[in-house]
Amino acid sequence: MQTERTEAKKQYGFNKLQKRIRRETGKAIQQFSMIEHNDKIMVCLSGGKDSYTLLDTLMYLKRVAPIHFDIIAVNLDQKQPGFPEHVLPQYLEQLGVDYEIVEEDTYSIVKDKIPEGKTTCSLCSRLRRGILYKTAKRLGATKIALGHHRDDMIETMFLNMFYGGKLKSMPPKLVSDNGEHVVIRPLAFCREKDIARYSEAMAFPIIPCNLCGSQENLQRKNIKTMLNQWDRQFPGRIESIFTAMQSVTPSHLVDNELFNFDAVKATGVETEEGDTAFDAPSFNQSFVPEDTEEQSTSAIQITQIA
Ligand code: SF4
Repeated sequence: MQTERTEAKKQYGFNKLQKRIRRETGKAIQQFSMIEHNDKIMVCLSGGKDSYTLLDTLMYLKRVAPIHFDIIAVNLDQKQPGFPEHVLPQYLEQLGVDYEIVEEDTYSIVKDKIPEGKTTCSLCSRLRRGILYKTAKRLGATKIALGHHRDDMIETMFLNMFYGGKLKSMPPKLVSDNGEHVVIRPLAFCREKDIARYSEAMAFPIIPCNLCGSQENLQRKNIKTMLNQWDRQFPGRIESIFTAMQSVTPSHLVDNELFNFDAVKATGVETEEGDTAFDAPSFNQSFVPEDTEEQSTSAIQITQIA
């Protein structure tokens, strides 16, 4: 009896999680017009939790969507030592989805060109990007779908702010840097925590991502640690940051390109977005924590990140 109740509870939790991921993916697709009727979506599958979740969710949405679109899963086998070649074909066959495994030995190129001990990721990802664009063109794909999620987008924003001097994140939809493709990120509204739990529950056959022997990007790791600390210490903060990314006020930033400060003139009409002079900023109360020591603690944490 006890076991049955535990099982039922587990199933209920899983259903809720699956529904949330599907709902959030559908919402992002709709909000950013990611998929159109008769699109052919090339889903980039690395063998990690995010891309498995993306493929699984898009396959579900294809079944229930009122429009027609096709999916083709593509994996790039970069010939890293120990890459388990059989895992993805086996999984994809069983799923019954169209797929293609592209084999290109970028591993040897990277090892050849980059001196021992130097970071290999930028050349490796440049090569990968080129191959995936070429593949999308050959397959006639109209969209390229990537498995980045909400937390990747937040991390990227802080990386750009802390190390790049730019207020810029990872877009949910954008044209590729060669101008030839539309890249979409349907998991833009999904939390990494949810994806990790879903991937575990679905027992996706995960391929480890450290086969190339490269160290994890230290700066990204630092940002991740900072955000995880904030999430534990100040519940709601990550949600507030992500909400802020969807609610930008160019007139309250300092970018002349984004807002025409030259054209500012008194209109005599009251406006909510007008300057409030010396008033303290007002906040959305749902994001304001009760902890009064928060400001000083977070300032300390930021200095520890550098
Ligand atoms: S971690 Fe390895 S496979 Fe991934 S981009 Fe860097 S070098 Fe390439």
